[in-house]
Amino acid sequence: MKNLAILGSSGSIGQSALLVAERFPEEFSIFGLSVYSDIEALARQINKHKPRIVCLASPEAAARFDYKSPDLEMVAGKDGLERIASHPEVDIVVNAVVGFAGLRSTLAAAKAGKRIALANKESMVAGGDLVNSTIAAHRAEIIPIDSEHSAVFQCLKAGRKSEIRRLILTSSGGPFRAWPKEKFSGITVEQALAHPTWHMGRKITIDSATLMNKGLEIIEAVYLFGLKPEQVDVVIHPQSIVHSMVEFIDGSIVAQLSRPDMRLPIQYALFYPRRREMNFADLGFDKKFALDFEPPDHDRFPCLRLAREALDRGGTAPAILNAANEAAVDAFLKREIGFESIFKLIGHVLSNAEILPADNIETIIEADKYGRDMARAFMAGKRNQKFDLKSGNFRA
Ligand code: MG
Repeated sequence: MKNLAILGSSGSIGQSALLVAERFPEEFSIFGLSVYSDIEALARQINKHKPRIVCLASPEAAARFDYKSPDLEMVAGKDGLERIASHPEVDIVVNAVVGFAGLRSTLAAAKAGKRIALANKESMVAGGDLVNSTIAAHRAEIIPIDSEHSAVFQCLKAGRKSEIRRLILTSSGGPFRAWPKEKFSGITVEQALAHPTWHMGRKITIDSATLMNKGLEIIEAVYLFGLKPEQVDVVIHPQSIVHSMVEFIDGSIVAQLSRPDMRLPIQYALFYPRRREMNFADLGFDKKFALDFEPPDHDRFPCLRLAREALDRGGTAPAILNAANEAAVDAFLKREIGFESIFKLIGHVLSNAEILPADNIETIIEADKYGRDMARAFMAGKRNQKFDLKSGNFRA
C-alpha cells in the first residue's frame, strides 16, 4: 500500500489522479490533499477519501475553512504545502499545483527523497538545475505526468541515453492552428479557452492556445532528460494521439500513442516500473483514421522561439519567461490585454531582463517576482514607454 499526496487536488490533473487511485484501493491510500482555495471541493474530497492531512494553500481560504476532525491535520500556505510534500508517511507526491508555486513543493518532496509524479512543469522550467541536483542528492525520483514527457520517458525504454538523436514533442496546435494571422488580434478569452482535444485548467488551456505550453515543455524536457536544447524538436499533430516521440541515432523513431486522457500518464507514474490495466477505450483500429503532422508556424506562434531564447540565455531566464507568461495569461483572462499582447509582453520582458545564475531558491523566487513586476510595469505603461494593451506594441 502506497500513501499518496495529491497537491492541486481540485484541478483537472488532481481529479484525474484521484480517479486513478480510486480504481486501485488495495494499492493506494489518499494520505494528503491540497487545494489553493476551493473549500467546497476540498470538503467533498475529505468526506470521500478520508485523508490524514490537508492544505489550503491560500491563507485567506484557510481562515474561512472551519472543518474540524480529530483524525485530520489541517495546514495552510506555502509551509503547509511543504509539510505535505515532505511528510514522512507519504510515498508518492503528485504535484499538480498550477504555475511557479509548484516549485517549492517539488523541492520539498525531493529533499525528503520522495517519488514525485510531476505535472507542474514550471518546477523544471524555473528551477531545472536546482531540482535535478536536489533529486540526485536525496535519492528522490521524478516520473513525469505531463503527457509528452511521459511519452518520452516511455519511449526512452527502447534505447540508451547516448543513442538519442532528438526528442520530438507533439503539440495539438491549439484552437488557432489554422487561423490566419490577421484574425489573431480579435481572439477572445472564450475562443482561447475552447481547446480542440484536451480538457484542462484555464492557465494551461491559454498556454496551449499560444503554444507557450510547448515552449515550456521544451525547457522541461531539456532538464528532465538532460539533453541539449537543439535535441528537442516540436511537431504539430492535431489529433493528440501520438503524445511524443524519440528519434535514435540510427534514425529509428519510437512513439507512444493513446487516446488523449491524462489518467494514463498519471497511472503510469504511480505504478512505474509496472503497468496496470486501464479502463478506457482503445484507439479503434477497426475504423479508418488518420494522423497528421506539420511543422509549427513560428511567425504566428512566437512562443517556441521565446522559450529557446530563454534556454540559450540560461540562468534565471526561463524563470523570468515563465513569470512573464503567468502575468500575461492572467491579464488576458481578466480581459486586460489582447491575445497577441501575450507574446509581445513576454518578448519585451525577456529582452529587457537582467539574467543571473539560478543556483539557489532565493534567486529563482526573486527572478519570478522580477519577471512578474516587469510584465506589470509594461502593462501599466511604466518603464518610460507606453505599452498598448490591445496590440502589445509600444507607442512613442
Ligand atoms: Mg503537456
